[in-house]
Amino acid sequence: MIHKKSAEILAALGIESRTSGACTGEWLESSGEILTSLDPATGAPLAEVRGCAPADCNVVVEAARARFAEWRMRPAPERGRAVQRLGELLREHKHALGALISLEMGKIRSEGLGEVQEMIDVCDFAVGLSRQLYGLTIQSERPRHRLIEQWRPLGPVAVLTAFNFPMAVWAWNAAIAAVCGHPCVWKPSPTTPLCAIAVQRICNQVMQEHAAPGLFNLCAGGADVGRWMSDEPRFPLVSFTGSIPVGREVAARVAGRLGRSLLELGGNNGIVVLDDANLELAVRAIAFGAVGTAGQRCTSTRRVFAQRGIARQLSERLVRAYATVSIGDPLADGVLMGPLASRAAVGAYVSAVGRAVEQGGELLCGGAPLERPGFFVQPTIVRAPAHERFPLAFEETFAPILYVFEVDDLDEALAAHNAVPQGLSSAIFTESLRSAEKFLSALGSDCGIANVNAGTSGAEIGGAFGGEKDTGGGRESGSDAWKAYMRRQTCTINWGDDLPLAQGVEFL
Ligand code: NAD
Repeated sequence: MIHKKSAEILAALGIESRTSGACTGEWLESSGEILTSLDPATGAPLAEVRGCAPADCNVVVEAARARFAEWRMRPAPERGRAVQRLGELLREHKHALGALISLEMGKIRSEGLGEVQEMIDVCDFAVGLSRQLYGLTIQSERPRHRLIEQWRPLGPVAVLTAFNFPMAVWAWNAAIAAVCGHPCVWKPSPTTPLCAIAVQRICNQVMQEHAAPGLFNLCAGGADVGRWMSDEPRFPLVSFTGSIPVGREVAARVAGRLGRSLLELGGNNGIVVLDDANLELAVRAIAFGAVGTAGQRCTSTRRVFAQRGIARQLSERLVRAYATVSIGDPLADGVLMGPLASRAAVGAYVSAVGRAVEQGGELLCGGAPLERPGFFVQPTIVRAPAHERFPLAFEETFAPILYVFEVDDLDEALAAHNAVPQGLSSAIFTESLRSAEKFLSALGSDCGIANVNAGTSGAEIGGAFGGEKDTGGGRESGSDAWKAYMRRQTCTINWGDDLPLAQGVEFL
């Protein structure tokens, strides 16, 4: 039985209770497994989406290939106008899309709206980029020769996404890829297919207005569809966002056919708080980083390294801040934490809390699921023993569990901070210029993102986003991340009457 509010959100975006998960601008008959979307706040089903079987995927890839043949020859600024239109339509539907994210994924309304804003921002960025995509001119060693470096499109891009940013991760890829000259085929998480259907409906309008069917394509499904896409040579680039174990498999499959992968995998993010920190800022940043999105962001704060002088005070203030967090319906006013995404996630939370205590952690607050329908848990703080004696600190548990470690100084904090396999986001709170600069130096954080007096979570789209080590090394979104979507071509142009060879080689 669909709740009245849920029905209204789905109706506002034209989502029916049973729908196909294959689209190229036209909805196709799909014949794969049925994906049931659940409301994590109640556990009740919202709608069913029929996923893709390999034959359906094949039709979708062929549509993308056909569009690529034409799209790559449109001037990039013209491609940008299609992305501009996408941004306009996202603005128009921002409220409804944000509500759908909250409904299907469980993040609170403000964060759902923030996710849609991120899509709008990346569209704006991509439109500007469509008049850039700069190459270099390089000095040649040969007379009357010129060297240039230019960037050309690769071909259709497979975009495999995680449940926790059910729309924005697609936009980071699709908006940039489209201006670079590529159609995308999107395989969303099987737990959030309705978010993908809603975005696809908007894309269909863009494709119709810009005579570009096959530009934005959908291939819903589970792991089988993801494997099929990873193995598929018609995708020169596979952009994968998700967990480290699955990322490893995708990377191996794509590498096996010498394709290119762009990996955005799990994080295990830490904040260092030194004795001289502004604790007011630190507490707010840690609370948002650890509790926001119920601890289900790749950039969520999981580890805090508190210098001994402020450690006790910081923990007490965090416990007090956590007590004010209202938990409940993510669409309700004033709620700061919604449910976890699934029953399995609640199981992983319970298991992690149990292991934290077994490994010598002390529960400072939280630690249990809530007795109510849906997948709710308490945000949890654990005072942890030394980092190296606490194996749990090396894992990403996708839940609102924060481990607080006491350290003597910045060097001890950095050693522990960098000891984990993941390397996504990091932060330091300090008023010391020296400590901040050390954190950002080659001796400092080994992550793709390192912040000073700002938390680990909530990146802007203007920077390149991604992480090192097991996080996969990929960069998406802003800066020059667009280069990952293109092939670099080095060109030598001889405008003389002679044929001098490089390095002075003589021949004929
Ligand atoms: P997941 O790895 O379970 O699934 C991600 C996607 O991979 C889904 O679409 C899934 O259907 C697909 N998939 C599953 N098995 C596959 C296989 N064998 N081959 C190909 N595809 C397969 O991840 P999740 O639980 O949806 O998302 C949470 C994870 O994503 C966390 O680890 C989080 O840190 C990470 N994440 C990273 C970033 C980033 O930018 N670094 C952003 C968001 C989420």
